[in-house]
Amino acid sequence: MAKYDYDLFVIGAGSGGVRAARLAAMSGAKVLVAEEHRVGGTCVIRGCVPKKLMVYASEFSHSFETAKGFGWTIDNARFDWSEFLREKDKEIARLSGVYVRNLENAGAELVHGKARLVDAHTVEVEGHGPATADKILIATGGRPWMPQELPGIEHGISSNEAFHLTELPKRIVIAGGGYIAVEFACIFNGLGVETHLVHRGPNILRGFDDDIRTHVTEEMGRRGVKVILATQHEAIEKTATGLVSRFTGGHHCESDVVMFAVGREPYVEGLGLETAGVKLDERGAVVVDEYSRSSAPNIWAVGDVTNRINLTPVAIREGHAFADTVFYDRPTSFDHETVASAVFSQPPVGTVGLSEADARHKYGKVDIYLTRFRPMKTAFAGEDERCLMKLVVDQASQKVVGCHIVGPDSAEMIQMAAIAVKIGVTKPQWDATCAVHPTLAEELVTLREKYMPPGLGHAA
Ligand code: NDP
Repeated sequence: MAKYDYDLFVIGAGSGGVRAARLAAMSGAKVLVAEEHRVGGTCVIRGCVPKKLMVYASEFSHSFETAKGFGWTIDNARFDWSEFLREKDKEIARLSGVYVRNLENAGAELVHGKARLVDAHTVEVEGHGPATADKILIATGGRPWMPQELPGIEHGISSNEAFHLTELPKRIVIAGGGYIAVEFACIFNGLGVETHLVHRGPNILRGFDDDIRTHVTEEMGRRGVKVILATQHEAIEKTATGLVSRFTGGHHCESDVVMFAVGREPYVEGLGLETAGVKLDERGAVVVDEYSRSSAPNIWAVGDVTNRINLTPVAIREGHAFADTVFYDRPTSFDHETVASAVFSQPPVGTVGLSEADARHKYGKVDIYLTRFRPMKTAFAGEDERCLMKLVVDQASQKVVGCHIVGPDSAEMIQMAAIAVKIGVTKPQWDATCAVHPTLAEELVTLREKYMPPGLGHAA
């Protein structure tokens, strides 16, 4: 007789949970997965995937403008929001189904309902009763954080609702300056919505390289997003004609929708983690070691609920490493250094490694290579849009420690550049790579002249 009903109980069927559950089940373990909402988690249901589809939909307006410069006449181009939402929802349902099938094919069982730990080995799933498990994996992800104390916050929405607006608004105010705020501001602007992005700081995308931050802000402005910095909401008031956002400093702005993208929080509410002795940090994230093990010896956690690097591929790798360690006897810890990411703004950002500021802090002296140029395609069409590419090189070792790109296809380029930065190639090795012509990416391997940041003189 087995001591427990299951070898592994996974709470949360998002990217991290599903990867871990599938691999564990394929090792022969008896696995149960509980999911409160739809299988697929944030990425598939209300994050990366529907967001990218919205980016694609939104980008056409700019493409149509560029096409005119190439001799095209485009009459009566119209966008049907409801039609797009229907198709988007069909695709999300299809992908969620793929996740369910993948779990089933691996031999894992799936149950729908909110799960709550009763003790370190017992999980109660709403409507299904308790089940016991030898090991438990918390993979419940995160959820939007809303400033609940703000007067009128009940009129605001989060990214969750932005995927399901019944009508495309004419005007939107988006609060925040991180990935989600910037991406959605560009999406709505591209769809013809008058868009204000309102951020409390002096510049958007804190933590990114400063040249990138400034460049993206300028390019977003060029495309029509109204970026308002150094202010934040004091209140939202509903009037006969819309929602009035009142900001610090006395400004105000009327819109049809006010969206908050001011951060996300680990989703631990109601999980009963305290009863099992699972420690949380001051932000509510599950504290784990390098093998994703929590303070309770039989409980692990992966993905956004641990608030390490909140990206889908990271959650997947953490889930995979967990399964390798615990079910395949291959102790594996995911290396959180030098993880590339992209902001799907318009134009997009691709980034890997250290910003110039962080590299100066870490290495002292750095060499900077930077170029700003008009891409052939849009320059031909008479547009003023500019690309920015920047390499950050540790002066002593000549290793490329940071690569940052703003411009078309930068998300695709950075995936390749990340291989080189991750293995630590030097600038001479980087330069030995022959260009592919004519491309934007060739600019990356033909950067020869050091860039002297204004004000730094020879101290660089
Ligand atoms: P971020 O943490 O990236 O950004 C939050 C933003 O909200 C910051 O600009 C922050 O300002 C601002 N903010 C925080 N608190 C307040 C407040 N009280 N009032 C006003 N502004 C506030 O969160 P996001 O929600 O944009 O994204 C969450 C995470 O999801 C990201 O960090 C990323 O890991 C992931 N993600 C990744 C994507 C991708 O890979 N393309 C896409 C979307 C999300 P300040 O800078 O001053 O702190």
